[in-house]
Amino acid sequence: MSGAGERIVIVGGGPAAQAAAGAYREAGGAGTVTILAREPDPPYERPPLTKDFLRGDAGRKDLPLADASWYKECAIELRNGAEVAELDLGVPAARLADGEEVGFDRLVLATGADPLVPPIPGADRAAVQTVRRIGDSERLRELGSSDRVLVAGSGFIGCEAAASLALRGVAVTMAMLEELPQIDRLGREVAERFAEWLGVLGVEILPEAELAQIDPAGDRAARARFDDGHREVFDRILLALGVERNDGLAAAAGLTAEDGIEVNAAMATADPRVLAAGDVAFAFNASAGRRLRVEHWGEALNMGEVAGKALAGAASRWDVAPGFWSTIGERTIKYVGWGDGWDELRFEPGDDGAFACWYGRDGELVGVASHLDDAAYQRGRGLIEERAAWR
Ligand SMILES: Cc1cc2nc3c(=O)[nH]c(=O)nc-3n(C[C@H](O)[C@H](O)[C@H](O)COP(=O)(O)OP(=O)(O)OC[C@H]3O[C@@H](n4cnc5c(N)ncnc54)[C@H](O)[C@@H]3O)c2cc1C
Repeated sequence: MSGAGERIVIVGGGPAAQAAAGAYREAGGAGTVTILAREPDPPYERPPLTKDFLRGDAGRKDLPLADASWYKECAIELRNGAEVAELDLGVPAARLADGEEVGFDRLVLATGADPLVPPIPGADRAAVQTVRRIGDSERLRELGSSDRVLVAGSGFIGCEAAASLALRGVAVTMAMLEELPQIDRLGREVAERFAEWLGVLGVEILPEAELAQIDPAGDRAARARFDDGHREVFDRILLALGVERNDGLAAAAGLTAEDGIEVNAAMATADPRVLAAGDVAFAFNASAGRRLRVEHWGEALNMGEVAGKALAGAASRWDVAPGFWSTIGERTIKYVGWGDGWDELRFEPGDDGAFACWYGRDGELVGVASHLDDAAYQRGRGLIEERAAWR
């Protein structure tokens, strides 16, 4: 056991926070552990919010990452509804929105990210929403076959939500800046598959269409105006335009944070008392040899675990190639790689719509996206972590 009497405070309430707390205990950490979490719900699965939960195939009871007894058994104090407004590294303490001070010896920032809402006039209308929390997905679940929805944005959240809403019988239009969904991120071949999968479900795609303004249209609906001047009325507009990392607490406390809190491979900031993990971290990946920004469920768990072990004094570093799965309708895409750009690709089609798309940069393999080809995903991970040459 290590660190008896030490006060560990974790700010967050998502997978990174939960994993950090659990890994600390598992590695023998004996200090007190307090999780300060803004949301009213204990840490829960976000991925189903645009998949099974949105479709109605999963309920609230399926979402929690652990039940109340786990926190009790691990002697982890989980305080929901506790938003940290300020960090005072001089005391040191986390100050809650109501003024209460929670002192700590060491701190993990696992504050994640929130949906980006660009300054589109009318984006604050009642018919406009984002999806990050359970309540957001519950609002989307109110929609049915008499409703029309605009999904603005063709990232994974947008594609998943569009597909799940279409499966609920909702008429869905997806507007995007690109010519095809995620063509810039994953290349033409993969983007064409995404468009096809969405098309089969009845999602109408509006390519190269920028949402410019949202006007009222009756009590509940909204009129979307696009940059080419055309207008359409929707019952709901879902903004799926990326995320903003919640790194403001760290920046205000003087830690280096620019679109993510800078940490080393053990998740430590320049102040050794403060760690950061998950979506909010701009963490050094030991295999990549550089810092990466990732927004993946599995990496939030991985980074949280590294942070928890490090707090307990166990050697640990983030060195896996980040990976994620996404489900668009009934189709699952798996990606593993550094995710920060490529300059060449090789698309390998397989039987029954299967594919593997390999990405290279500066003569090195940097990523692989696959559908119905787990062998490519697994092989790709090893090669990417080895920094294999592009062939
Ligand atoms: C709808 C949806 C579907 C997704 N699907 C996938 C998927 O299929 N695969 C995949 O790999 N990834 C997916 N992701 C991404 C994945 O959920 C995130 O990468 C992951 O949740 C990040 O975990 P985190 O713990 O870093 O942050 P979060 O899950 O964002 O948790 C951070 C928590 O900190 C709280 N917080 C923030 N500021 C404060 C504060 N000042 N005080 C107290 N608490 C605070 C927040 O309220 C939040 O509860 C999805 C995300 C969404 C929203």
